[in-house]
This record gives sequence, C-alpha cells and structure tokens, in this order.
Amino acid sequence: MITFEGVTKRYGDGTVAVDNLNLQVPTGAITVFVGPSGCGKTTSLRMINRMIDATEGRILLDDQDVRKIDPPTLRRGIGYVIQQSGLFPHRKIVDNVATVPYLLGWDKKKARDRAMELLERVGLDLKMADRYPFQLSGGQQQRVGVARALAADPPVLLMDEPFSAVDPVVRTSLQDELLRLQAELQKTIVFVTHDIDEAIKLGDTVAVFRVGGHLAQVADPSTLLAE
Ligand code: ADP
Ligand code: ADP
Repeated sequence: MITFEGVTKRYGDGTVAVDNLNLQVPTGAITVFVGPSGCGKTTSLRMINRMIDATEGRILLDDQDVRKIDPPTLRRGIGYVIQQSGLFPHRKIVDNVATVPYLLGWDKKKARDRAMELLERVGLDLKMADRYPFQLSGGQQQRVGVARALAADPPVLLMDEPFSAVDPVVRTSLQDELLRLQAELQKTIVFVTHDIDEAIKLGDTVAVFRVGGHLAQVADPSTLLAE
C-alpha cells in the first residue's frame, strides 16, 4: 500500500503542482492517475520514488515514510517506466536489462538469463536481444523498458505515460500485454495517463486529477464508464 497523506508540492517558482493529496494506492493492483496535462500526475508519481520530495505531508510505503528509506533501497523496490524508454543507447537490448541484476551482484550469466526470460515475458521477439535500442521500433523499446523495470523484481512499478508515444495499434497490444503480465505478477502499479479510455481499460482504481493539482475523485472504472 502506498499512502499519500496531505501531500502538497510547491515548486521553487511558486507553482503548486499538487495540492493536499490524500490517496491510498492498494497493493497488487493497478491505480491510474488520469487528468489533463499539468494537473500534477507526474509530480505525484515522482514523489513516490523521491525523484521529487513533497513540500508538505508525507508518503508512506507499507507504513514507512519514503523519506526514511535510503534512496538505493527505495529505488530497488520501485521499477520506473517512462514514455521514452530511457534505454542505454550503446548497450545491446539484453545488456540493457541484464545491467540491473548484474549491478545487484548477480553473476553475468545469471543476469543474462534473467534478462532473456523477462524479454520473452514482455513479448519481445528474442531476435532483437542482440540489437541496439535504435534498431527497435518505439513499441519494442517500450517492451524493453518494462522488462528492465521488472529486472530487480520490484513490488512497485511506476509508469508515466509509457504507451503514449506509440501508434494506436501497438498501444492496444502493449496495454493487453501489461494486463496479462499483471495477472501473473500482481505488482503495485501506478500508471499515469491523460487518456481516459486507457485509464478505464487498465485501472483497477482510477484517481482523477484536475487542474491545480487537486484530486477530483477516486473511482472504480465501471462508474466512470457510466458517466
Ligand atoms: P502532469 O503530469 O499532470 O502533466 P506535472 O506534475 O508535470 O503535471 O505538472 C504539474 C504542474 O507543475 C504544472 O503546472 C507544471 O507546469 C508544473 N511543474 C512541473 N515541473 C515543474 C518544475 N520543475 N518547476 C516548476 N513547475 C513545474
Ligand atoms: P542503472 O544505473 O543501471 O539504471 P540502478 O541501480 O540505478 O541501475 O537501477 C536499479 C533499479 O532502480 C532498477 O530497477 C531501475 O529501473 C530503478 N531505477 C533507476 N533509476 C530510477 C529512478 N530515478 N527512479 C526509480 N527507479 C529507478
């Protein structure tokens, strides 16, 4: 469970990006943050893994204030996927994924086996494993981004508009793969999107943000469909 308790983020220029957010993100389910551009979704997400710190309030990860967890430990438990996959351009696909377990102390062969297993799980054609990121399509790169985020087997996955830059057909298949993967893995996922259809499709719970960094409602997707 991730709990936002009265969380406000004010940037240095005075912008209030998130205003008194109170929200519970349940374990083992997908919670979607949805709303128009600029309403504080990304800021809220990044306060969980402390890329940004809250100005007021606190965020609890299983009852522990994230500010009291040392950052490397915190980040090892939190996979992070962004719109541009963020792959290392000069490393082969398999090495992009294997780097994470390798840095955690696994031997090279084991790390590589783990990487191949994950690439298969996210539905990548394994012929791509020895290529470089620029040789893959945007959709394939996003699959690799998801595999890399899962490499340390973190219980929490933060996904910031991960599928927004790919074409609609590929986006649909990436969404389907995520749901299939989640049925197996049951991670605690926070998924940011501005697309309400995507939110309804993927979310077990949907948190609707509105301009000014306010939370408008937290809803079951079926009730959003009815509106
Ligand atoms: P969203 O993810 O919903 O598009 P963001 O969290 O990115 O929203 O941004 C929320 C608000 O905070 C916006 O008004 C944005 O312009 C502002 N903002 C984001 N990052 C910064 C920053 N580093 N400095 C100042 N303002 C920022
Ligand atoms: P690398 O530098 O090779 O990415 P890290 O030790 O930084 O290796 O990564 C360890 C884990 O932390 C991985 O699961 C990675 O996805 C994740 N990670 C890396 N950077 C961040 C970040 N800024 N926020 C959250 N997780 C991160």
